Amino acid sequence: MNALELHALHKSFGNVIALDNVSLSIPAGSRTAIVGPSGSGKTTLLRMIAGFEFPDSGRIAMHGQWLVDDAREVAAHQRNIGYVPQDGALFPHLSVAANIGFGLAGDRTAKRQRIAELMDMVALDASMGQRWPHELSGGQQQRVALARALAQNPAIMLLDEPFSALDTGLRSSMRKAVSKLLSDAGITTILVTHDQAEALSFADQLAVMRQGRLIQAGSPMQLYRHPVDEQTAVFLGDAIVLPAWVEGDIATCELGEVPVVEPRRQGAAQILLRPEQLTVSALDQLHDPAHSSVGRVTDIDFAGGSCILTLELAARTTASGELIAHRTLNVRNPGINIPALGSMVRLSTAGEAHVL
Ligand code: ATP
Repeated sequence: MNALELHALHKSFGNVIALDNVSLSIPAGSRTAIVGPSGSGKTTLLRMIAGFEFPDSGRIAMHGQWLVDDAREVAAHQRNIGYVPQDGALFPHLSVAANIGFGLAGDRTAKRQRIAELMDMVALDASMGQRWPHELSGGQQQRVALARALAQNPAIMLLDEPFSALDTGLRSSMRKAVSKLLSDAGITTILVTHDQAEALSFADQLAVMRQGRLIQAGSPMQLYRHPVDEQTAVFLGDAIVLPAWVEGDIATCELGEVPVVEPRRQGAAQILLRPEQLTVSALDQLHDPAHSSVGRVTDIDFAGGSCILTLELAARTTASGELIAHRTLNVRNPGINIPALGSMVRLSTAGEAHVL
């Protein structure tokens, strides 16, 4: 059964349409990440699921029971949904321990024990229990907010940019730890993030929003490889979009012939490749010219384990006499065996292209 069913949700603030006909199913126990540019409606959607915002029209069901429809609006505190807002929203007049224990049932000893467990779960040192929220860093405040939400044993957890205040290393380890914690507890989780890499690695289901609309939802790999349009492709990662001629399941482009799967159109089209699908090798190596092309290295952006090579493909004339101006492509290359600046290299493709 789905943990949540969102059906045709609509919400306006004055003349701003924050949500426009949004429908989405969230399987029980799954992790869904919602991504989209600033102002695309992500927080509004999360607040609506939590019960802090109500739709102008549309319905929400949780485990098959209506939370919101034409006849009812179940209040936030009756939903058993945990919500960690962007800023943590801790009670400023309560200590860390009191924030986490707020609303916990049981006697003093049981409460103290549960608070200690929860602090441990979110990697907060026990000595922080007596601090005030203003004495914590942004990342620590976010973890207290998470512990406070976990204390309620919610069936669904909503996380709005919960790792944004953490530095890169801690962010990744916290993400993994929280993800495991929520999975082990069987808590259905919805994460809003600006970080596409975070969304791709965290989620079973990825939902992309733009201007209040849900543009595409599916597995991270499906969306990354087969985005519905160029904007979504670029939003989810570095993209190489090339004009091509599609015939059957082969697209012919400046990089030669590239296989495509179930192309949505034949003839003139745009195709998408990800930079990791391009491989650079020395010109003297044997290659099938139908599946590769030649370019000059015009820039090298070294980043340790990998580097980005800027390659300029020569201008050329197609069989029909059409002139294709020279094109510049960025290609990801390992940080070793880097070709020299100005050298000519062969560029080959791997895997399938996606027809946009
Ligand atoms: P961000 O990534 O910047 O947090 P978002 O995708 O979460 O953005 P929302 O906060 O949901 O976007 O906002 C969607 C739109 O609705 C925006 O144009 C925003 O200005 C508007 N909006 C949200 N809440 C309100 C409100 N209470 N009153 C008026 N407008 C609002």
